[in-house]
Amino acid sequence: MHIWIHLLGTREEEDMTTTIPAYAATSATEPLTRTTIERRDVGPHDVAFDIKFAGICHSDIHTVRNEWGRARFPIVPGHEIAGIVTEIGSEVTKYKVGDRVGVGCFVDSCRECDSCLAGEQQYCTGGGMVGTYNAKGRDGQRTQGGYSTAIVVDENYVLRIPDAIPLDKAAPLLCAGITTYSPLRHWNAGSGSQVAVIGLGGLGHMAVKLAHAMGAHVTVLSQSLKKMEDGLRLGADEYFATSDPGTFKELAGRFDLILNTVSANLNLADYLGLLKTDGTLVELGMPENPMTVPAGALIFGRRSISGSLIGGIPQTQEMLDFCAEHDVTPEIEVVDAAYVNEAYERVLAIDVRYRFVIDTATI
Ligand code: NAP
Ligand code: ZN
Ligand code: ZN
Repeated sequence: MHIWIHLLGTREEEDMTTTIPAYAATSATEPLTRTTIERRDVGPHDVAFDIKFAGICHSDIHTVRNEWGRARFPIVPGHEIAGIVTEIGSEVTKYKVGDRVGVGCFVDSCRECDSCLAGEQQYCTGGGMVGTYNAKGRDGQRTQGGYSTAIVVDENYVLRIPDAIPLDKAAPLLCAGITTYSPLRHWNAGSGSQVAVIGLGGLGHMAVKLAHAMGAHVTVLSQSLKKMEDGLRLGADEYFATSDPGTFKELAGRFDLILNTVSANLNLADYLGLLKTDGTLVELGMPENPMTVPAGALIFGRRSISGSLIGGIPQTQEMLDFCAEHDVTPEIEVVDAAYVNEAYERVLAIDVRYRFVIDTATI
């Protein structure tokens, strides 16, 4: 939107931004509140879209509570964003007005390093990916996320949402979906492989659905058996409680791949013991504090521990298309924006089935 002001009798074009409503955290201890933010005008390579839905990821909570120690307030969280294109820049070729699109955890990167050239922008070594919120954009402005009604993003960092996926269910795929899809592909989960998923939350339930759709044998390792019926319905073949020490005896040496989606510290040695020789445990959860690993838990069985960060743009598009083809979508609870603080409390109380999604029309 061009805002014209009268200055000493002349008209000058200034302040090429649009003001929109949003929900923001103003400190690590205050609840999120309604506010307004600015979005830049659409540049030649930009796509502007109305945000229809934004998922609530546990990373939003880690960030605004400053558990990762890099919060710069105010922060508008939200990196699971789905909506409809309203305007495109003059050079845009991939999208047109009316298209169904999404944005995940990053909105830019250097585009020149080996990772970017390989389509793995999340591992950009040329300054790092530009986070969708709580980051500094390449234009020097702070980025603000999806708990808002519109966003402007370079077309190369925008995803196409297939028609088969409703927009509210598409939103969580942009983080929870790709974060679990990427390691399943990287470590070749499929027919004949034994995959375990630790934690049945937002990421965990997507891991179960995706691994099942890829043909793997899927086991959930949850703290209790409370969500067992859900887990089996979502595609798990087996379900165990980690509060039962018998679980670790029974499943010793069973898995090719374990995805740890837990947002808190675990005794990793116990879980490494569940891997086959040459098996890998992949850290997806990012708890506030470090975890210790005894060398023996890796040496015996030549086991690996690794980590994995979301996924690049091409693989995110591949994941969305896979989900459309295999009818894989998250279990969601759509909430009003004013409910966001309560939703955070419920995520922390492990009372989410299995992803909260904000209907941004209520902002
Ligand atoms: P979530 O919905 O809160 O799920 C976390 C699950 O972990 C819970 O459902 C619970 O499962 C289990 N859990 C929680 N507290 C626990 C504890 N004290 N001990 C044992 N288990 C516990 O969170 P999310 O949105 O899926 O995110 C999970 C983690 O992944 C967060 O740390 C987030 O920041 C991180 N993350 C990483 C990436 C990445 O790129 N690597 C991307 C997105 C998110 P049960 O009830 O089944 O035990
Ligand atoms: Zn996330
Ligand atoms: Zn790069």
